[in-house]
Amino acid sequence: MAKLTPMMQQYMDLKGKYKDCILFFRLGDFYEMFFEDAITASRELEITLTKRDCGQEEKAPMCGVPHHSAETYINKLLEKGYKVAIGEQVEDPKEVKGIVKRDVVRVVTPGTNINPNTLDEKKNNYLMCLYQQEETYGVATVDITTGDFYVTQVDQEKKVLDEVAKFMPSEILYEENITVDVITTIKERYPVVINALEDWYFDSSMCEQKIKDHFNVHNLDGLGLKEYNIGTMVTGALLQYLYEMQKNSLKHITTLYPYTTESYMMLDSFTRRNLELVETLRDKQRVGSLIHVLDKTKTAMGARLLRKWIEQPLLDIESINHRLNTVEILKNQPLLREELRELLQPVYDLERLMGRISYQTANPRDLIAFKQSIEVLPAIEQLIKEVDEQLCHTIYKEMDLLEDVKDLIEASIIEDPPITIKEGHIIKLGYNEGVDTLRKATTQGKQWIAQLEAKEKEKTNIKSLKIKFNKVFGYYIEVTKSYLDLVPEDYVRKQTLANAERYITPELKEMEDTILGAEEKVVALEYDLFVKVRDRIGKEVKRIKKTAKAIATLDVLLSYGYVAERQNYVKPVINDEGIIDIKEGRHPVVEKMINNEMFITNETYLDNAEQRISIITGPNMAGKSTYMRQVALIVLMAQIGSFVPANEANIGIVDRIFTRVGASDDLASGQSTFMVEMTEVANILRNATKNSLIILDEIGRGTSTFDGLSIAWSVVEYISNPSKIGAKTLFATHYHELTELEGKIDGVNNYCIAVKEQGDDIIFLRKIIKGGADQSYGIQVAKLAGVPNEVILRAKDLVNELAQSDITKKIDVGTLLDNEAEKQTQEEVAPTKQISLFEEIETHNIIKELEQIKILEIT
Ligand code: ADP
Repeated sequence: MAKLTPMMQQYMDLKGKYKDCILFFRLGDFYEMFFEDAITASRELEITLTKRDCGQEEKAPMCGVPHHSAETYINKLLEKGYKVAIGEQVEDPKEVKGIVKRDVVRVVTPGTNINPNTLDEKKNNYLMCLYQQEETYGVATVDITTGDFYVTQVDQEKKVLDEVAKFMPSEILYEENITVDVITTIKERYPVVINALEDWYFDSSMCEQKIKDHFNVHNLDGLGLKEYNIGTMVTGALLQYLYEMQKNSLKHITTLYPYTTESYMMLDSFTRRNLELVETLRDKQRVGSLIHVLDKTKTAMGARLLRKWIEQPLLDIESINHRLNTVEILKNQPLLREELRELLQPVYDLERLMGRISYQTANPRDLIAFKQSIEVLPAIEQLIKEVDEQLCHTIYKEMDLLEDVKDLIEASIIEDPPITIKEGHIIKLGYNEGVDTLRKATTQGKQWIAQLEAKEKEKTNIKSLKIKFNKVFGYYIEVTKSYLDLVPEDYVRKQTLANAERYITPELKEMEDTILGAEEKVVALEYDLFVKVRDRIGKEVKRIKKTAKAIATLDVLLSYGYVAERQNYVKPVINDEGIIDIKEGRHPVVEKMINNEMFITNETYLDNAEQRISIITGPNMAGKSTYMRQVALIVLMAQIGSFVPANEANIGIVDRIFTRVGASDDLASGQSTFMVEMTEVANILRNATKNSLIILDEIGRGTSTFDGLSIAWSVVEYISNPSKIGAKTLFATHYHELTELEGKIDGVNNYCIAVKEQGDDIIFLRKIIKGGADQSYGIQVAKLAGVPNEVILRAKDLVNELAQSDITKKIDVGTLLDNEAEKQTQEEVAPTKQISLFEEIETHNIIKELEQIKILEIT
């Protein structure tokens, strides 16, 4: 077999080290891909597949992308789940003979992507790593664009999934031996790139060393990792992976935040989705979600922090009150608030900028934007200093005015620099003597050329004589055809055009060398100086990150204050007695979707004693689920430190919110809706505590009436029982039979959403009142929805007939409550009961009548 060409050999060597990546191999102005990579990339990127001689008989498949637009292509590949290795020339071609050395300078994966153009600035881009040892799981999560690094340990598979739901990482790594269930569930639920890491990544002594080296500490206690054995390993493994991928500085990852999941309200993935915290359930839009209402932040850092706060409601009353007290001040002092918000407007994304400074990808314009952000800090500090509230004191303390950084940029970088760093025009006059001297040489050279042009014109009498410059010939003298006879002997002809000739002279070329030499030198020098300035700023990463966090916190609190005033929210009182008392509560999103004035407010009272469970009945469309979500959202808003849409609110801290919402929103595919529903119910029953808030919307609908009612019934019994759960619960149901539980089970109360009958129609009053609904008004709602009259009339007839047939007696709720013996007989007959519902009424011809309905003709 013929030998590969040296370049191809180099390619193969490099590719051998990055087998699982698509290798972008730099050749001149292109990144080329070969062999299998070329075939894959040409297909995925829809670019032409060509061939290149590789030394062997058969040519190598090849495709390529221009280096200046490579990021777009890289991003496309990431989206499709590939990893991309970037192979660059690591020597200056001018300085080597033969083939230039190439090496992989970084590997890009979805979680290690640092390209600002392809990332959503309002969202963190997280990379997560999972590890399991016996019953303990370690979860480490990092955003390498901002340097945020979190680690925790949990003791249940489910809690791992909760962390995934909280962070929504774009890439997950896991140790090969982790429980398969976790991985399968993640794959089923999330469109995330997920890869196994070999077990050596998790070697404990290597991990400890890696962490010590990175954070530059002698022992791990200082980082807060003392109680986190498993956490240490998962952190070390993640760091190891980052170093492999990034091959570059990770200096801006300066702190690690170990946390316990107990410090935040737990929200499982179902509940996050059901409550539409950051996107809507159906079409995954931001509009229509809670964050859309609350986010009036001015900076990208603030927007990301707000999202984090919404994803992690607090449990500690004191911390919540610190936030609320600040919001109160900012709500009540609109002038102060708006002045601060105005100041934040031009503040740049300092966190991601620090990332780019560490990765050495920040350009001169970034630095100018950075300086402009720093310039507003003193004014912010002045205003914040005056606010007498603890959180503001902290913000004030954490904020560093960074004057030295500002002065450095001010002195070194011109106000309007280019984006590129390799073409000069970056460094300010007076910053560096060398740059000044070289610039002077070029300016003087250019003046000399202008003078030469005048001199030659006069000497030769050629009126059209001009000295011009282009990249191929450098400086030359151009003379139009009509003056050719006047051209002096010593001009050397270089090029003939249609109506002109171009010449050079020795003295012109000499000056050209001086000018071009100086230009080349100044560009190189400016580049060096710029890199030095950038690295110098890189050393201040800790101070800058602290300031960025302070700004982000302020931004979120200002946003809370603004929204509170605009939307007429009130400050909730937070209690730890388990009382939830809301006066004139509103749903924060629905009230904005319909005209605010049209929204009907409602009261809520729940406690740990007599008012634990509300059974809510009422026709479809009455507003049951709006009401229940409203309560959950108000509680959540209070615990993230926001004011709430109500006239008064006293909120008892809840440890978890659970929701089980309508059967129509089909969740995981491949499972029956009923199965999904029951899985969610099982989750609630296993994990709720007496401090939880549970929202159940129509459980037990996906099965027969008997089964459904029985399940709903026993769920209420179980939840209400303080020795089992005893959680505060809102339970909307179609089964009017459940209203019989009031008075029979402690803590259960009936509510319904009022409707008014008007002739044949109903009017929704949207008001929640005490008592159970006695009718379901299904037919009236069907009519409102536009079901043809014929069907409505027929349905009415059938209702009457069914009522007369007395089938409801079959669902004799009394027996469900009776003693054990009777329960047993119930169980024995249960399987046949479902059928008997209709068996019994056969004599009434219902089956025949139903059979006669032409199903295909009704809507
Ligand atoms: P249900 O769960 O009882 O079927 P929904 O809660 O879905 O009813 O409410 C149906 C619609 O009624 C909502 O989309 C909303 O437009 C309107 N709605 C609900 N509650 C209110 C209210 N308190 N004030 C005004 N409109 C409301």
